[in-house]
Amino acid sequence: MHDAKQPPDTLNPQLSPNFDLARLTHSDTARERGLSNQPAPEHLPHLRQLAAVLEQVQALLGAPLSISSGYRSPALNAAVGGVPRSLHALGLAADFACPGFGTPLEVARAIAASNIAYDQIIHEFGRWVHLGLAAPGAAPRRQLLTICSSAEGYLDGLHPCAAPA
Ligand SMILES: [Zn+2]
Repeated sequence: MHDAKQPPDTLNPQLSPNFDLARLTHSDTARERGLSNQPAPEHLPHLRQLAAVLEQVQALLGAPLSISSGYRSPALNAAVGGVPRSLHALGLAADFACPGFGTPLEVARAIAASNIAYDQIIHEFGRWVHLGLAAPGAAPRRQLLTICSSAEGYLDGLHPCAAPA
């Protein structure tokens, strides 16, 4: 937990009460492969906007979020097979679960039913929720998708995925 009495950390700025930059840039893949995952300065405002929305999500769910992927540098995005124009590369998307609230599908449905200004929610592989925000100046589409397998691709709406064999 962040101690509010500590001096501001210029290398790891607090983006919102519960989310600092390290939490939104942490990547096991980047660490394992020695890839830099520092955002460009122009992406910091996006990450602050993302953190503000994640605060709303955490307040809605009433349990801490477990964030598996937030910002992705171009090198990291390529390493994880992210689409080239991924919103993760702009600091406008996060993948997370919230086991203290429920399954990823239950989390996705709760956010979808809320007033949170998401652009896109994707229930991914039954394992996490991708939350994307609209690019600055664009209206949120409130799009809901599910992907259970790469072969099947994206489906409209939020659906369960069969448990992995
Ligand atoms: Zn994602």
